[in-house]
Amino acid sequence: MTAILGAGMSGLSAAYYALKTSKVAPLVVLEATNRVGGWVRSIKQPDGTIFEKGPRIIRANYQNILHALWKDLTTSRVSKDDESIYSFMERRFGRDIAEKIAAPILCGICGGDIHELSAKSFMPKLVEFEKEHGSVFKVERAKKEAWNMWGLQGGFEQLPQALAQNIAKRGVNIKMENNCEQIIFNKNSVELTVNGKVEKYSHVISSLPAKNLADLVQEQHPELSKELLDIPTVTIAVAYYLIHLLFLKTPT
Ligand SMILES: Cc1cc2nc3c(=O)[nH]c(=O)nc-3n(C[C@H](O)[C@H](O)[C@H](O)COP(=O)(O)OP(=O)(O)OC[C@H]3O[C@@H](n4cnc5c(N)ncnc54)[C@H](O)[C@@H]3O)c2cc1C
Repeated sequence: MTAILGAGMSGLSAAYYALKTSKVAPLVVLEATNRVGGWVRSIKQPDGTIFEKGPRIIRANYQNILHALWKDLTTSRVSKDDESIYSFMERRFGRDIAEKIAAPILCGICGGDIHELSAKSFMPKLVEFEKEHGSVFKVERAKKEAWNMWGLQGGFEQLPQALAQNIAKRGVNIKMENNCEQIIFNKNSVELTVNGKVEKYSHVISSLPAKNLADLVQEQHPELSKELLDIPTVTIAVAYYLIHLLFLKTPT
C-alpha cells in the first residue's frame, strides 16, 4: 500500500498518475486539513463573486503578443547553457512582454524574481523550442503552451475537487484530517506517524512543501532535513478589491 502525503494539486495528480501502474497500488492520500486543493482555494462572496486565494484567471494583451510574435520570429537563436527568465523573455519577445506579462505572471505563480529564476528550470519547453527550431512561435504547440491562458467559471477549486472525485471513484482512499508527523524508512517498508499512531506502508510519495517534509524526516535524516529547509521560499500577500458597478463611470 502506498501513502501519498498531501491532497493539494501535486498529491492528487500523483495519485491520478500512480493509478496507471499496479506496482504502487492500493493508494491512500493523507491530508492534514478537512479539504482538498491546498493552495488552490476559491472563496465565494455572498454576491457570487469569486476570490481566488491561489491560482486565478490570467489574461494576455493581444497587441503585445503580436509584437512579441514578430520579435520572436525575427530574432536568431542564442546558445546559452542557462539564463534568467527575464533575459530569455526580453531577448525573444522584448522588454514589454518580459516586464508587463512574464514578471507579474511568474510572480503570481511562484513569488519569484524573474531576474533570478532559471529559464531552463522554469520553462524548459520554451528553451528547448528555441534550441531546436530557432523560434518559440514557429512551433504550434509552443504557442498553445506559452500563451493559452484561461480561468474556470465557478473558481479553480473545482479542479482539485473533480480530481479528488475521480480518483476516489477509482479506489483511492482520501483520508482527511490525517496529519503525518514523522516518516521512518525501514528496509522494506516505511512507517508513518499519523495523528499520533504508527502506520506501515510499502511506499510513500510526498507532495508536501519542503519545509513541512523537513520536520517529518528530521529524526532519521537530519542532513536531508537541513537541505529541505535551505530551499528558499517567499511570503505572498494577495489583495482583492471588489468595486460595485454603480461606482464605475460608464464610457460616454
Ligand atoms: C497567490 C498564489 C498564486 C498562484 N498562482 C498560480 C498560477 O497562476 N499558476 C500556477 O501554476 N500556480 C500558481 N500558484 C502556485 C500553485 O498554487 C502551487 O504551486 C500549487 O497549488 C501547489 O500545490 P501542491 O499540491 O504542491 O502544494 P499545496 O497546495 O501546498 O498542498 C500541500 C497539501 O499538503 C497538506 N499537508 C501539509 N502538511 C501535511 C502533513 N504533515 N500531513 C498531511 N498533509 C499535509 C496541506 O494541507 C495541503 O493540502 C500560485 C500560488 C499562490 C499562493
